[in-house]
This record gives sequence, C-alpha cells and structure tokens, in this order.
Amino acid sequence: MNIQINGIHEEKFHRPLQLIGNLFFEEPTVSLEPIEDTDLIIDISIKEEEGSLKAHASLKGTKEEKELNASYSKAVQSGLTEKEYFRLQKNVLSHAYLTVLQNYTGIIQKWGILTGMRPTKLLHKSTQAGVSREEAHKSLMENYMITPEKVELMQSIVDTQLEVVPDLYDLGKEVSIYIGIPFCPTKCAYCTFPAFAMQGKQGRVDSFLAGLHYEMREMGKWLKENHIRITTVYYGGGTPTSISAEEMDVLYEEMYESFPDVENIREITVEAGRPDTITPEKLEVLKKWNIDRISINPQSYTQETLKAIGRHHTVEETIEKFHLARKMAMNNINMDLIIGLPNEGIEEFQHSLDETEKLMPESLTVHTLSFKRASEMTQNKDKYKVAPREEVQEMMSMAEKWTKEHAYKPYYLYRQKNILGNLENVGYSLANQESIYNIMIMEEVQTIIGIGCGAASKFVDPETGKITHFNNPKDPKSYNEGFQDYTQKKINILNDLFEK
Ligand code: SF4
Repeated sequence: MNIQINGIHEEKFHRPLQLIGNLFFEEPTVSLEPIEDTDLIIDISIKEEEGSLKAHASLKGTKEEKELNASYSKAVQSGLTEKEYFRLQKNVLSHAYLTVLQNYTGIIQKWGILTGMRPTKLLHKSTQAGVSREEAHKSLMENYMITPEKVELMQSIVDTQLEVVPDLYDLGKEVSIYIGIPFCPTKCAYCTFPAFAMQGKQGRVDSFLAGLHYEMREMGKWLKENHIRITTVYYGGGTPTSISAEEMDVLYEEMYESFPDVENIREITVEAGRPDTITPEKLEVLKKWNIDRISINPQSYTQETLKAIGRHHTVEETIEKFHLARKMAMNNINMDLIIGLPNEGIEEFQHSLDETEKLMPESLTVHTLSFKRASEMTQNKDKYKVAPREEVQEMMSMAEKWTKEHAYKPYYLYRQKNILGNLENVGYSLANQESIYNIMIMEEVQTIIGIGCGAASKFVDPETGKITHFNNPKDPKSYNEGFQDYTQKKINILNDLFEK
C-alpha cells in the first residue's frame, strides 16, 4: 500500500503519519513527496484561525472511489511552548487522518490515534495528578479517540495495580533487577530475544556466567552502599532454566550474598519458559532459594504449531512439567499463550483455552503475535499462514471472555508495533497472584537495572521521572569482552540519579 500525503512537508510529521498508516495496512509506504504507484492520496491541511487549530484531511483513492473528508479542531491555549504546539498539531492532524482512514477501510481503531506501547501510563498520570475519573476518561476518549471499552480496560488495570502495589507512586527510590540469561535449548522461529542455542557451547556459558556473577556482585555492593532497596528480581532471557541445576544454585547463592535484604524482596521470578528445560533437580534448587514464581510457556497446545515455530518440546511435556512444578511447591505459575501463531485460528485457540482450564495457572499472559523485523518468521512471511485481522480480534475476545469467566483479571497490558490486528498483550491473573515486576516494567515508576546479556536497563529519575536507557550487548561474546565496562557505566548513571 502506497500512501501519498499532500500538503504536509515537514519531516517531523512523517513518523506519526506512518505509525497511524501501519495500524490499517501491512507495511505501507507513507510518503510526504509524490510517489509512483500510489494507492491512496490524502490531502491534509492544518491552519490556525480564530484561536483554533484546524486539520482537514481529504482522501482520494486512485480508483473510482468517492472522496472522503474529515476535519478536527482544537482551541490553542496561550503561551504554548514550541514542543506543546507541535503536540497539538500532531493531535489534530492525527484525528483527521485516522478518521478518513477508518472511513475508507471500515476498520475502527479501538486505541484511536494512540500508537504508544503503554496506554495505562496515561491514566496513572492523571490519577496521580488528582484528575477525576470522569475527566480522565473523557480526555482519553476525546483526545486520543480511544473507545469506551478500552478506557474501561485501562481503568480496571490501573485499579488492580494500585490494589496490588498501593505504594506504586512512591517506589521511585527503590529499584528492580532484571537478569538476562541468553541461552535456550533451540531458537524459536518468532523469537527476537537474545537467545542462543546451547548445544555444545558450554565454554561460552561458563564465561558468560563469570561475567554475570561479577555484575551481580558490583551492583549489589553499590545498592548496599547507597541503602537502596530492591522491589523485585526477574530472571529472563533466553530461558534462565537452560543452565544446569548446579549453575542455577551457585547463581542464586550469589544473589543472596550480593544483593541487599533479599529476604524482603517482594517477588523473585524465574522464567522457565521452555518446558524442556525443567527438571526435578532445577525445581529443587528454586525451592531451596525460596523462588516460587515461575513461568512455563505453552504458547499453544497444538503440536503442529509448536513444530512450525521451532519449539522442540511436546504439548504433553508442558502439561507434565506444570504438574511436576506444582508438586514441588511452585505456587505461582504463569503461562503464556500467543494468538495468531501460524495456521492457528479459533479452533486451535479454543483448544488452548480448554487445556488451560485443566491447569488453572495463577496467571495467564495472552500475547498477540507481532511480526518483529528480526524474527525468522518475518523474513519468511510467505511460509507462514496467519489468521486474518477479524479472526485475531475474535480470538482476543475469546480470551477476554474466558478469563472473566474463570476469575482472572487483567493487570497489565502493552502494545507493540506490527502487532496483528493492532491489538495488545494482556497479563491476566487470579486474585493476589499478579506479578509486581510486570507492573513495574510497564508503568515505568522505578529504575530497572538490567544485568547480563541483552539486559536493557531503564533508569527512571526518582524526582522527574525522566527515563534513560542503557543496553547490555545481546551476544555472549561481546558481553564477555566488556561486562566490567558496562557495569561501571551503569553505576555512573546510578550515581548521578540517586546521589542528588
Ligand atoms: S524460548 Fe523464548 S527466548 Fe528462547 S528461543 Fe524461544 S522465544 Fe526465544
């Protein structure tokens, strides 16, 4: 799909127009200059008149289609900064542009013009500022064109989060820790995480773990010296249970020795995503160190799908390992399902829900498949048949209905670019089993220190909320060569943030 925009020439508007175009079409080209093979031409104008900023969009298809028009205007407050004025321009422009595209395609965007990842942050912001619910909802619907249904979802998530973490807005002076272990037994086709197939690479694993222990010690030392508490710890990757039971044991011992006040950390989670990595010995180690929140990820309960996406384990193994984990005192198990996996439709997804019902994990995260650029699946899109937008939407509704009927409540959500059907990923949980780490990472209320391979650190200024990112390298070789340097750089950022 080639979309030519006439009347807007400033490059700064290109990105918002492109992002909205992506909501309607698969990989469209949106151009502010004339292009060949144009499918749609949209004339857009923005002008300020009598204290209002008005945008008008007029869409002409290249075929015999009738012209579609939409306008939107907003009052211009006095004394706006350049940035605020640009935001206003972007807002009126997006309204008019989205409306003509909705009319043209017949697709209603339930998130309106919002293309960001974390919609609930907006609602937290107004809650914190003391804005009434009514006002906040009105603003979300009017300013962003979010549908009442999604506003309701946002509100119920915000309510649950504040129940689970009543001091959510005061946690900026604590930190959470993410520990990235970049190995998996094999690499899944849709994966964009730092995950390296382990087989025959023990040397690489050994040197990676040496670096990881160093980072844990140094970070722990800094946290102790600065009297900073840890709210949550999350082991992700890769699959952190890919390493041996002995290696896990030494790693958790390191955590207890190095980190401050581990007994009072609110939650420690270990992803055990791939059932083929779970053994009684490893579960024993988790139990020994009081770690009882794990994630076992079926993704689907249809064997052909697992094969198609390169997960070398069986459906039976997922179920069997779930029961084993239960038997061995894992009392907070999360399971992930993915909507829109290759060759899957309503029937397969219903089967996954039926199987989930037999296990009733404490939390269930429902992802919608995202065609992320780097994944093998995107590069071979023709090989994989995926459900159409309407069917994906239907499956999402099935998940909503099913979770409601089984006493699960949504407690976090995030959106991704290139997500099928412009839907969202939602974490559901039974009462009081929510993952606090997931709330921390989504709502960006505190610093998350990333340790290990591919670990992304997000430094949140406790006073201003300003966010600084720092990424550790994704491949073990670069990590092994530079971990001391990365550790020091992060400590320097932490010193700036917390020693004010
Ligand atoms: S188990 Fe997860 S991290 Fe590992 S390859 Fe598959 S998707 Fe990637």
